[in-house]
Amino acid sequence: MATPAEPVKPGAAPRHIRLTSHAGGYGALPIHWGAATAAERGPVVGTTTQRSHRNVIGTHSGSYSVYRALAVAAGALSRHHKADLTNTAPTDIIGPYPQWSDPSKIVSLDPWGATVANVFESELAAGYDIRPTIAVTQAHVILPEVIEGLQKGRLQADGTVLTAGGAAMVTKAAIEPVWWLPGVAARFGCSENDLRRVLFEETGGMYPELVTRSDLEVFLPPIGGQTLYIFGNPRDLANPEVELTARVHDECNGSDVFGSDICTCRPYLTHAIEECIQGAQRGGVGLVAYSRKEGRALGEVTKFLVYNARKRQVGGDTADQYFARTECVAGVQDMRFQELMPDVLHWLGIKKIHRLVSMSNMKFDAITQSGIEIGTRVNIPDELIPADARVEMDAKVAAGYFSTGPVPDAEELRKPKGRELT
Ligand SMILES: [Zn+2]
Repeated sequence: MATPAEPVKPGAAPRHIRLTSHAGGYGALPIHWGAATAAERGPVVGTTTQRSHRNVIGTHSGSYSVYRALAVAAGALSRHHKADLTNTAPTDIIGPYPQWSDPSKIVSLDPWGATVANVFESELAAGYDIRPTIAVTQAHVILPEVIEGLQKGRLQADGTVLTAGGAAMVTKAAIEPVWWLPGVAARFGCSENDLRRVLFEETGGMYPELVTRSDLEVFLPPIGGQTLYIFGNPRDLANPEVELTARVHDECNGSDVFGSDICTCRPYLTHAIEECIQGAQRGGVGLVAYSRKEGRALGEVTKFLVYNARKRQVGGDTADQYFARTECVAGVQDMRFQELMPDVLHWLGIKKIHRLVSMSNMKFDAITQSGIEIGTRVNIPDELIPADARVEMDAKVAAGYFSTGPVPDAEELRKPKGRELT
């Protein structure tokens, strides 16, 4: 067990604050991003207890790092707590795959993040506080739409992928963001220096090391991560001969969880799950990759402001103003930037998606440009689109989203189709 450099009472502030650490701290292990093996790559060490061991900017747990700080401040959590990882190992083995050692394929997660207890066993034994950034487990998922699918005959129970009671068997994985800054900058076509500076400034100077420690290339950003739901054998994801049905879904709490009917998010998600179940039952494998990017990564406050602006504008809620209203409030139409999204597909070893359940041209382009082949694109059946979501659907199809139906013309886009505020 490592001795803390500055012993302090839990919750008590250290006597002085070191604004940034300095290069050449003894004991920090190097990270060679994209190296062929875990040993050559080196562990990601984001500990706050032994500062000289840190080899990254930021700390673990994404946005929850702020809650951890609150817990320490409140005296509820010892800042020297070290995770006991007994029995936490992944339930399914993912990789390693060739993409793991291609630094152009994965820049926003640590491919070795699920297996640190194994691959960095000796470093852990030597006292380094190395934490998993990925966890893999198994679950049964039970959705009312799937139960309805069974009742209406859209789905069949087989006792393996789907039970008669409507429970689907899944492997699920949670992934925290781990950014290799040179690779992230390359994805966005900016210099690493500019990226570091803007990250520093736009977080109110939260991570000075972004601009003072150019030797630290890895950043653990305080943002949401991703969750994967896998139907069938996870090892089959990497086999292009096995039919893969996949959806990459961006968080929409209002629809996904609460059934709000202004968009198609939950209907699309549950439709994709039904497609994944059917695909797995055909001997294939299914994948839903869920990213915490609420409201096109603009956040829910912005999203609700836009809803009001859409519904109160002169002429009513029309598709021709759909993107403009978002841009008025947020300054951009969308901040999801799908550039980093394919990383998780490469982590799973995916080379081909046979059925992509999505109508987003941005997701399609990002996946294919990253070198993954896409077979068929599956759009949402018309009967699953809520009436109030027609505005969104028309606007997206007119903007070039994938659809098998007619593309609405200018006159059609001017028709108010959204419900008014009551
Ligand atoms: Zn939505």
